[in-house]
Amino acid sequence: MRTGVITSINPRSEEIIGETSETDLGELPEFVQRARKAQDRWGSWVVEKRVEAMRRLLSILRRSEQRITKLIHAEMGKPLHEALSEVRSVPVELAYYLSEGPKFLREEEDATVPAGPKTDRSIVRFEPLGVVAIITPWNSPFATIFRSAIPALLAGNAILIKPSEYTTLVGLEAGNILSSLDRESQTKGIAQVIIGGKDAGKALVAEDVDIICFTGSLRTGQNIAAASAFPLHRLVLELGGKDPAIVLADADLSIAVPGIVEGALRNAGQVCCAIERVYVAAKLYKKFVQKIVEEVRKRNVGRRERMGPLIRPFQRSIVEEHVADALERGAKLHCGGVRPKGKGYFFPPTVLSAVTHEMKIMREETFGPVIPIMAFRTIADAIALANDTPYGLTASIWTKKVRKAREIATELRTGTVAINRYGSLRIGCPWGGTKQSGIGRLCEASCVREFCTSKHIWIS
Ligand code: ADP
Repeated sequence: MRTGVITSINPRSEEIIGETSETDLGELPEFVQRARKAQDRWGSWVVEKRVEAMRRLLSILRRSEQRITKLIHAEMGKPLHEALSEVRSVPVELAYYLSEGPKFLREEEDATVPAGPKTDRSIVRFEPLGVVAIITPWNSPFATIFRSAIPALLAGNAILIKPSEYTTLVGLEAGNILSSLDRESQTKGIAQVIIGGKDAGKALVAEDVDIICFTGSLRTGQNIAAASAFPLHRLVLELGGKDPAIVLADADLSIAVPGIVEGALRNAGQVCCAIERVYVAAKLYKKFVQKIVEEVRKRNVGRRERMGPLIRPFQRSIVEEHVADALERGAKLHCGGVRPKGKGYFFPPTVLSAVTHEMKIMREETFGPVIPIMAFRTIADAIALANDTPYGLTASIWTKKVRKAREIATELRTGTVAINRYGSLRIGCPWGGTKQSGIGRLCEASCVREFCTSKHIWIS
């Protein structure tokens, strides 16, 4: 088995910032065995004891806040303020789960049972699945690991984490924090990190684990689902999006314009729930396009401290290909569109109008700082256009008529509909996609049950 090295590169400067040895994939069965042994103990505890142990992670997270923020900035490239808010979201999510999660793990009795002898008792237990494989991407490299790890661990599982090969150093930091639970529980192997690229991910999926919790691209999610068919692994898949924004004729542009620009350009568009398509009421179209371009210029988001680079040249090539395809097919370029000279995988914020659904920019996930804008005539047309995608992560509606927006929300086939703000996850609310944006939900306390098997105990 090849044991290589993963090189960490700063996408702003293209400099090498670290090297990490890859995990010897021949050793994966030992990782799984260690996890099973640790899980035997961890999973046998009452949930309150796990809560107590996990609460200690809060102070470790607070202590490491600045260091991890700088590391995310260096290895992933996002601006420091975005990295800091990523790091700060983790203790908020952890504290929320520790307070709200346990009630979904407690045994339940006296469920309403319509048939069978009245004197029989039925008890339902929520037991840990065992070993959870967590495979994560690079765009929010710290928070995505915890988003799956927290409910999985709270439910009594052990975890194996395979971070993205582009953010290995951040993945190791997350793993170090989580593996401090070994000390708390006097075990070894509650949270282990596997270092490597696609092959390491594939090898992990082939192991005897109980569930795969994957966050990343649709294509990889499909590959993982296919590889999980025969072992019949359970799956939680948080995949991509092509999220639409619908701007009605009465929208308050002082809210809609900055909101849509932020929703499209945060993390340089490298967010699964970035706004990637904008549909505007025809009578507002010209004014709206002009205001979006002004906002992009005013914010000067192209400045490197405001908007970071793309992760690697391959990501920039996808964005360039989508922009070139749109221009060839008749789209109008208002700003951006051309990569800057110099070091770093930067791409400027780009605004396109006169786009159509024949263009890649309106069909495929771009994952870059592009705002394509199209006019619609009727609300029914806008809904049809918004739903004309294999994805279904979030959608946003911009209007003063909230009641109307709630009606439209019923028609949109997405996991989240945001009204007068861009779609995003909100800790405490279910997060996940419909259609090809994924399977399962995270972020909400009841999601601990994604990592449990329910058992009915029938006493006669
Ligand atoms: P992105 O990070 O661009 O969303 P991917 O979806 O390909 O890209 O990668 C997400 C994670 O999945 C990474 O950790 C990557 O190494 C891993 N991965 C890639 N291909 C596979 C695969 N076939 N099986 C399991 N894991 C994979």
